[in-house]
Amino acid sequence: MDFEFSREHQALRRLIREFAEEEVRPATRQADRSSQPSLEVLQKAGEIGLMGVPFPREYGGLGAGETGYCILMEELGRVDTSVASIIGAHIGIGAMAIYLGGSPSLREKYLPDLCSGKKIAAFALTEEQAGSDAASIKLRATKEGDSYILDGSKMWITNGPLASTMSVLAVTDPALGARGGATAFVVETRNGTGRPTEGFSPGKFEHKMGLHGSPTSAISFDNVRVPAANVLGQVGLGFVVFMQTLDIGRVSLGAATLGGAQASLQQILEWAALREQFGKPLAQAQSIQFMVADMAAEIEALRSLVYRTAWLVDNQKPFIKEAGMCKLLGSEIASRCVDRAVQVLGALGYSRDVHIERGFRDARIAEIFEGTNEIQRILIAEQLFREVGVKIRP
Ligand SMILES: Cc1cc2nc3c(=O)[nH]c(=O)nc-3n(C[C@H](O)[C@H](O)[C@H](O)COP(=O)(O)OP(=O)(O)OC[C@H]3O[C@@H](n4cnc5c(N)ncnc54)[C@H](O)[C@@H]3O)c2cc1C
Repeated sequence: MDFEFSREHQALRRLIREFAEEEVRPATRQADRSSQPSLEVLQKAGEIGLMGVPFPREYGGLGAGETGYCILMEELGRVDTSVASIIGAHIGIGAMAIYLGGSPSLREKYLPDLCSGKKIAAFALTEEQAGSDAASIKLRATKEGDSYILDGSKMWITNGPLASTMSVLAVTDPALGARGGATAFVVETRNGTGRPTEGFSPGKFEHKMGLHGSPTSAISFDNVRVPAANVLGQVGLGFVVFMQTLDIGRVSLGAATLGGAQASLQQILEWAALREQFGKPLAQAQSIQFMVADMAAEIEALRSLVYRTAWLVDNQKPFIKEAGMCKLLGSEIASRCVDRAVQVLGALGYSRDVHIERGFRDARIAEIFEGTNEIQRILIAEQLFREVGVKIRP
């Protein structure tokens, strides 16, 4: 058993931390206040290779695997959840679906521009009537010659207003339902000049509780023509590609929440050492000491889970149950930690002048997106029962 990161992963962490502190942090407040992401930050991330961290070098990635990608998400989650969300949707689900389901020629065609950050990716699954019940999607893809015609809409798509390359799940055979009659496509949604392609519109911009720096929108397809060569995986088996992509995405979401939880603990330690009440620093109050000890223990347990699961992914071992645990535990630990940080900072924790107020609004989403925590519990239980030979879902 080796608990050391490789020299390459240690160097990658140093590179990302420097980027997060010098480029991401200064742009964070403006992005939150204006609800506009910093395009310069994304461009810079692309220039130093961060938009393709896990993918092989032959596709323009850094070849750092899931472990490297979790390091990226942890370091970004420590500084700005919105940037982690944009880059997470781009790499971890948008481009990942192309990597997992794409033929060699689709990978060669799309991944280099995504890894360099020249183009941004999105992952389009959710619809008005298909949230947790993703199998009830309705967006239709109809075969016409060498193309499919996409008609319908998706909701709550991270990077919807930014992306020009989208992984989209659509129904190709309604009689078979989504599990056997849905197909995944890679769709070019903007042309070379950045205009939406014919029939595509990045619809209503969502005004959210948090993650203001990460744009989310509905998107719609009005007879959008997609080459049949752009199918990811097999026709009719797109649901599998999408679910496998989400499984991997949950590991890195756990890493992002690990970074957020760590930042909350750091904030408490610094503030409790400085702030004096009743003639002594808050750090001398036993209730605060118990609090930081509990937080540190939870964070350490999460760190072990996240990086062990990343190791399972990198070594092609089963990881679905652990991935659900990364997302479930990570999101709840991060929410608890940031809630405590607000409490220890008192009135200051409630002020928009400090980082922790944004962190509090941003943290909540991790319990909801990429499969709610209730759905994670169901998936984990399903795996546990399967291990003892019991099937709990048809
Ligand atoms: C900021 C943001 C970004 C997002 N980005 C993307 C994206 O990039 N791509 C994309 O495709 N989607 C995205 N989503 C959508 C997200 O994945 C869904 O919101 C999520 O899967 C939950 O679906 P829902 O909101 O329809 O809730 P619902 O499915 O309506 O669930 C409502 C509540 O009921 C619970 N529930 C549902 N079914 C059960 C059950 N069987 N047992 C117990 N409890 C249950 C849920 O856990 C939840 O608490 C995003 C959402 C947000 C808010």
